[in-house]
Amino acid sequence: MQENAREILKKYYGYTEFRKGQKEIIDSILEGKDTFAIMPTGGGKSLCYQIPAVMLEGLTLVISPLISLMKDQVDSLNSLGISAGVINSTQSINEVKDTIYRAAQGELKLLYVAPERLDVESFYRLLQTLNVSQIAIDEAHCASQWGHDFRLSYRAIAPFLERFHPRPVVSAFTATATVEVKEDVVKILGLKEPNTFITGFDRQNLSFSVIKNENKNDFILKYLEDNKDKSGIIYAATRKEVDNVYIRLQKKGYSVGRYHAGMSDNERQESQEQFLYDDIKIMVATNAFGMGIDKSNVRFVIHYNMPKNIEAYYQEAGRAGRDGESGECILLFGPRDTMLQKFFIEQTVFTEERKINEYRKLQAMVDYCHTTRCLRKYILEYFGERNVQDKCDNCGSCKNDGEIVDITIDAQKIFSCIYRMKEKYGVTMAAEVLRGSKNQKVLNLEFDKLSTYGIMKNYTIKGIKDLINTLIAEEYLTLTEEEFAVVKLRNKAVEVLKNKQKVMQKVYKRKEKVKVDNSLFDKLREVRKIIAQREAVPPYIVFADSSLKEMSEIVPLNREEMLNIKGVGEKKFEKYGEEFLQVLIHYNNEHKVRNIEDKVVEEAAVDKEKKIPSHVSTYNMLKEGKSLEEIVQHRGIKRDTVKEHIMRCGLEGLEIDWNIFIPKKYEELILEKIKEVGCERLKPIKELLPDDVDYNAIKAVLCKYKNAN
Ligand code: ADP
Repeated sequence: MQENAREILKKYYGYTEFRKGQKEIIDSILEGKDTFAIMPTGGGKSLCYQIPAVMLEGLTLVISPLISLMKDQVDSLNSLGISAGVINSTQSINEVKDTIYRAAQGELKLLYVAPERLDVESFYRLLQTLNVSQIAIDEAHCASQWGHDFRLSYRAIAPFLERFHPRPVVSAFTATATVEVKEDVVKILGLKEPNTFITGFDRQNLSFSVIKNENKNDFILKYLEDNKDKSGIIYAATRKEVDNVYIRLQKKGYSVGRYHAGMSDNERQESQEQFLYDDIKIMVATNAFGMGIDKSNVRFVIHYNMPKNIEAYYQEAGRAGRDGESGECILLFGPRDTMLQKFFIEQTVFTEERKINEYRKLQAMVDYCHTTRCLRKYILEYFGERNVQDKCDNCGSCKNDGEIVDITIDAQKIFSCIYRMKEKYGVTMAAEVLRGSKNQKVLNLEFDKLSTYGIMKNYTIKGIKDLINTLIAEEYLTLTEEEFAVVKLRNKAVEVLKNKQKVMQKVYKRKEKVKVDNSLFDKLREVRKIIAQREAVPPYIVFADSSLKEMSEIVPLNREEMLNIKGVGEKKFEKYGEEFLQVLIHYNNEHKVRNIEDKVVEEAAVDKEKKIPSHVSTYNMLKEGKSLEEIVQHRGIKRDTVKEHIMRCGLEGLEIDWNIFIPKKYEELILEKIKEVGCERLKPIKELLPDDVDYNAIKAVLCKYKNAN
């Protein structure tokens, strides 16, 4: 009987509940309706076309813009037990042929390609011979020139779809789409009366904060000190700034890498891989880094500089916490940031109209940095959401129970000064007049004659500017949209001047961080790192941080309990479950974190009487002369698990017969390929071998010949 979507969610992905919108999107695709889904980063888009891919007969073609992203998805699907392949321009002819062969044999459920591939006629002809039931388009906003990652090759998609008779169901996904981009995408991709789903932009697991008036470098050092071992990205606006922050952190001994367009392709590639594989914890980068980074366990994203607009900010910050675990998004604001972004806009060849639009977006970003209202609400309303709660309790404004103070008098001073300056000057000039500056320009314009000259002497220029910026963000004042923006009064300010309204502001207090015990989580991470190295995949492909976190909280002690952990499906349990169980059981024995009945312990994968690990029990049986089949029968575990146990003992140094893992006919070939590419990493070796040679075979050959030498 065919499994339903929920069963597949549980069996392969190890999740029990669909996230918001997922079920509806899947149903729409299964009904054969073109489907357009707009979900925030980390909202779980991939699963929305992957589950239909498993359920529909035939092949799902996935069009995706970036090679690194595709590779990651394919690794991840294969580790879940869903067969997927990728064809891209970096592969050898043999690799491409091999994937095509597997697709033609009906072995693949999903095939990932870049849009450029659609122009290749032979590829189209190949697809005609296959049963393509769904075409899924990832990062659909790339089709629109108003989107921020426009790709010309996305224009080839619509004519390509037109050639299919019958036409497969088409699904399209994006995280960012303003109204204009949304309409553009539907038109350009040629979606047919699509069901459109917008699941909302909120990412509840992310906290947002803005840090002002603080030394950025000191802040980062202190933050990293408090958050050792966490993986995160620090974005800076220019290459130079990236290099400076990178060198500073490196000197302090942090595990850090960098990424910007000034580095060579190889350097960038290497740096990115190190980050994905958790070999470095912190990435300092310009905005060149990110699209296609699917790393799910990024715990923080710090912006060293303010980005150009809220769209860019939300996308970059959104790279934190994709696994659903908490993530921190911190923006370090400095007044120079606004100047820098204005400079960038001026450097462009945009039309005047487009420039004005960019200035408007920039101002919304500046306002975000100065508002004292809920930051989440601010972002969500920017994206057009309505009826957003006033407080989220998870942003800098809501969490900090600062004191509300009445600043009406200061606000009135500022407003009347701007009024007296005839609303013709910028923020700095207003601040200088209020402070009583002897600046030549101030004197030339005779602003020292104004009654408001020097009425805020007790403030610094910076303090006054901060206050003015807050009043802009709170919509008392407004700035014109141009390079040298002029500050003007809004109606709300006039009300304040007439004493009809008060101005209140929140003044923040600092909070100390509470330290938590992460020792079990750290141990599980170590196991994950070992497995990831062994299998040549990034650690988060083995298990997401959220799964390890849940394991460390619930401490499952047997298979059944383990399968209840979010993200642990059957296939993954078979592959890795035992290794994690060992650590959990051992930890529990030492710390008695769970008060469990004997029965559970008996079921657990430990030979209780002898108190030896499960894989060693298997090994002992083998040494007693039992065959693999006998061990399977006796222990009631799968053949693959028995082999995993034996492999593990071998890797731990016990004597085993490596030949049980090595298909005789390939032994020579494997050796040859090892000599060809070296034995640093398994994946390059595997890629040169036929598909039926698995990683265990390669490991076994490596060990056999190492021991023989
Ligand atoms: P997106 O492409 O929307 O940015 P992904 O598809 O990469 O997001 O999903 C982000 C993370 O959320 C992944 O680790 C994925 O396994 C997880 N996820 C997706 N759906 C669910 C669900 N229903 N329950 C729990 N986790 C989920």
